[in-house]
Amino acid sequence: MTIQQIGSFVPYDSNMYLLIGEKTMLIDTGSGTVSAPIIGYIDELLNGRKLDYIVLTHHHYDHTGGLKDLVPVFKSEVLAGPGDAHKIRMGGPDGIFGVDVTPCPEVRVIAEGLKIDLGEHLLEVIETPGHTEGGISLYDHKTRSLFSGDTVFADGIGRTDFEGGDTEQLRESLRKLKKYDILNLYSGHGPVIEGKGNDSIIRGLRYIGE
Ligand SMILES: [Zn+2]
Repeated sequence: MTIQQIGSFVPYDSNMYLLIGEKTMLIDTGSGTVSAPIIGYIDELLNGRKLDYIVLTHHHYDHTGGLKDLVPVFKSEVLAGPGDAHKIRMGGPDGIFGVDVTPCPEVRVIAEGLKIDLGEHLLEVIETPGHTEGGISLYDHKTRSLFSGDTVFADGIGRTDFEGGDTEQLRESLRKLKKYDILNLYSGHGPVIEGKGNDSIIRGLRYIGE
């Protein structure tokens, strides 16, 4: 399986990761402010293959706004955590960015413990609320890689002062992640950490006061 980071021209866009194994998956979509070059790049990397899944780590616009352009092109199955899936389906005003998000009715719920089969890799769904009510992370046991959305970054943790945020829940989520052996951390913003992902979780817990 290869993991490719997809860049964006929009500074606040989320990181996007394209996973190519026997099946293919995109994690988060960016805001969709500038979609054409992103679609072009993904298409090039897919090299004629289908994009099987789009997984959303949480409902915020900077991670999900791109769905409106990506879903019609790639016709992927769209998956999100139980607490956030309905918000992505409904669309509507995003309180942080002050924009109206296009509804995406085809979102399916994925919950704790589910393993998404990409062929030689199984990505485990870990519910990590706190930044939002229904945030999820994905863990690949084979490469010991965590895709953490905005729960935890290379050096920092997600904000909990937005609607649906909860510091205690974020603390619990970080405690849960601490039990995983994380080599590589692919977070929702900022740099990728290769080799010392566990340190970012421990630092995150320290930022939250433990
Ligand atoms: Zn967010």
